[in-house]
Amino acid sequence: MRKPVIAGNWKLFKKTAETADLVNKLVPLVKNNRQVDIIIAPVFTVLSAAKQALSGSAIHLAAQDCYWQEEGAFTGEVSPGMLVDVGCSHVIVGHSERRQYFGETDQAVNCKIKAAVAAGLVVLFCIGETLAEREAGRTFEVLRTQLSGGTAGLTTTELEKIIIAYEPVWAIGTGKTASNEQAQEAHAFIRSEIAGLFGNGPADMVRILYGGSVKPENIKGLMAQKDIDGALVGGASLQADSFAAIANYD
Ligand code: PEP
Repeated sequence: MRKPVIAGNWKLFKKTAETADLVNKLVPLVKNNRQVDIIIAPVFTVLSAAKQALSGSAIHLAAQDCYWQEEGAFTGEVSPGMLVDVGCSHVIVGHSERRQYFGETDQAVNCKIKAAVAAGLVVLFCIGETLAEREAGRTFEVLRTQLSGGTAGLTTTELEKIIIAYEPVWAIGTGKTASNEQAQEAHAFIRSEIAGLFGNGPADMVRILYGGSVKPENIKGLMAQKDIDGALVGGASLQADSFAAIANYD
């Protein structure tokens, strides 16, 4: 019922020639005839090059962030409309690295989500607890705060343009994957929170991805969980063969 999503977050890697090379290798490896949304998120500077290399492919293009103003005196920022202009259909918002290193708050995430959706983008909205928060037994409280803060004021129609990515911070880039059971438990909680905020129908429809050291070896077990609808992949998305193996998980 929910279409699976496999998204690759390239983070701060790949210049123009490397982008074309990775996309050219990836496109023939990824099965295009299946009901799975495949997305790649390169850095801003190579989005046009990636779009060109993706020509004719069903792989979607995402940016890794955006600002909430459409234009103005906001040096260094990139607006949702500008992302649409270069061929993006999706954008990542609220990644834990942006929250951790750039001080992004739930309020900023909320503004970005609203602006991105208004511009016609689908948002990959990231949430997740740190190791200290998990160990203090605060996982659900943190997820609840990030979910309600990020989605504040959204209509159910706007929620349809959002894909949630549960990314426990302690599993990102560390090689430590949440167990299938830990991930499922968090996903079920997120879905129940969405039901509380928006109702059972929207909660059944919303896609929730897992992110955190996803690899070809663990994708099947994760995808077998009832409330896991896909993956947001960092490190393993930087090699065509590993990302294709994840995308072709079934
Ligand atoms: C990410 O960047 O969103 C991520 C999950 O990274 P990794 O797969 O490398 O843990």
